Amino acid sequence: MPREHILVIEDEEDVLELVRYNLAREGYTVGCAESGEAGLELARREHPDLIVLDLMLPGLDGLEVCRLLKADPLTEDISVVMLTARGEEADIVTGLEMGADDYLPKPFSPRVLLARIKAVLRRRSRALPDPGDVLKLHGMVIDPVRHKVSVGGRDIDLTHTEFRILHFLASRPGWVFTRYQIIDAVHGETHAVLDRSVDVQIAGLRKKLGEAGKYIETVRGVGYRFRET
Ligand code: CA
Repeated sequence: MPREHILVIEDEEDVLELVRYNLAREGYTVGCAESGEAGLELARREHPDLIVLDLMLPGLDGLEVCRLLKADPLTEDISVVMLTARGEEADIVTGLEMGADDYLPKPFSPRVLLARIKAVLRRRSRALPDPGDVLKLHGMVIDPVRHKVSVGGRDIDLTHTEFRILHFLASRPGWVFTRYQIIDAVHGETHAVLDRSVDVQIAGLRKKLGEAGKYIETVRGVGYRFRET
C-alpha cells in the first residue's frame, strides 16, 4: 500500500470529495483545502509528496498557487498535478513551465487520475539517467557519448539539434514538455529560437526515425512527450 501524503486543493466540493475518496481508498493519506490560501498553508505545514491542484480557484488561483509553491524552498520539491478545464491550454503551458509535473483535463475518471498520480510519484523516486548513459527503449538505442542512434539495429543519421531533442525527451519518458522547455534544454536560455522551429525539428526527427517516430507524441496545444515504456 502506498504511504505517500497527497494534498487536494479544489473549491468544488463534489470533485474534492471524489478525489479524496479515491485516493484514501488507494491507501494514500489525504489533506484537503478549498482555497489556494488554505492549500498553501497546508502545503507548508504538512509537506505532502504531491498536490492535486485545481487551476480555477476563487481568490488565489491555481497558477499563482503553483508559482508560490515553486518559489518557496519549503515546498518547491512537492510534485504538482493540475486539474484543468477545456480551453486552458495556455494555462497548462504556463503551469508546466513553472514546474508542475502533469495535468488532467476535467471531467476526468478517478482511475485516470490515480494512474497519473502514480506515474508522477514513480518518476519522482526514480533518478534521471546520467548524461552519459546509453538509453535503450522502444527498440531504440541512444548513445549520448558517441552521439549515435539506432532503431532496430539500423543507424540513424541525425543533426546535432535533432539528437539533443531526442535525447532530452527519451531521458524523461512520460513527461510532457512545452516547446519553450525543449528549446531551453537543448540550446540554453540565451539562444533565441522560435516555438515553431521545435515543430520543424520534431517533424524531421520523426521522419528519420520512421516507425519509431510515433514514440515522440504531440500533446495538442501543450508540447511533446516521449512515450513511456
Ligand atoms: Ca474550481
